[in-house]
Amino acid sequence: MIDRRTFLASTTAAVTFLPYAARAAALAGDTFATASGEISVFPVSHASFVMPTPAGVIYNDPVGEPSAYADFPAADLVLITHEHGDHFNLDTLAAVVGENTKLITNPAVYDKLPAQMQAKATKMANGETGETMGMTIEAIPAHNITEERMNFHPKGRDNGYVLTVDGMRIYISGDTEDVPEMRALKNIDLAFICMNLPFTMDVDAAASAVAEFKPTYVYPYHYRGRDNGTQDPAEFVKAVGDASEVKMGAWYG
Ligand SMILES: [Zn+2]
Repeated sequence: MIDRRTFLASTTAAVTFLPYAARAAALAGDTFATASGEISVFPVSHASFVMPTPAGVIYNDPVGEPSAYADFPAADLVLITHEHGDHFNLDTLAAVVGENTKLITNPAVYDKLPAQMQAKATKMANGETGETMGMTIEAIPAHNITEERMNFHPKGRDNGYVLTVDGMRIYISGDTEDVPEMRALKNIDLAFICMNLPFTMDVDAAASAVAEFKPTYVYPYHYRGRDNGTQDPAEFVKAVGDASEVKMGAWYG
C-alpha cells in the first residue's frame, strides 16, 4: 500500500489530459491520483455525480435532465442507492444507460426496473460485497436511526457503497444518518456524506461520524433540505476540523 498522503495528491485544476478534455473543459471537477491513474469527481446536482476512474466511468444516482450528462463520457457503471426521486429516475436512466452500461442497485430499486434494465443490473443488499470491472464494491447500510425519521429510510432497504478502485477506497453514503457501519469504515480515501433534514442528518452528526472514520477527503453533498433543513457546508468544514480535508463541489449550480 502506497502512503496515502503522498499517493492522494489532490488538485482542483481542470482535467487536461483525458480524452474528453475538450468537452469537459468548462466542467468544474476535482482530480485525485490513484495507483496507476486518477479519478475525477464532477458534481451534477444534489446527490448526482459523474466519476471517471481508471476502471471506467461511474455515474452515481443520476437524475434530472439528460442534457445535464451530455458533456460527460458515457457511463460504464451506474450506481443507485435507493428509490427516492432525487436518486432514482427511470427517464434519466434510460438516457444514460447504454448498450454496455452496468447497473448496481439496492434490491428495492432492482424490483422497480423494467426487464431490459434488470438484465444489465446487479442487486446488492446491505452487507454484500461484489466485483465488477476490476473494482470491489461493498453495499453499506444506509438508513435513519432517529425515531421520527425512520419512515424516510427504513433499516435494511437502502445502500451506501464503498468502491475500491485502483487502490483508492471511495465511500458514497446514500441517504443515511451516522449509522455504526459508517463510523466503523476503515481506510477511506474519499467520502461523499449526505446531510439535510428531516431526511438524513445534520452537520454535527455528519461531522462527528467523519471525525471517527477519518476519510482523507470528504465532500458534503445532498445538503439542501425542507424548511430549515438545509445544512451549511461551511459549518461542516468547521465541525470536521482536522479530521479530514473537506472538498466543496458545485452541487447546486
Ligand atoms: Zn432518500
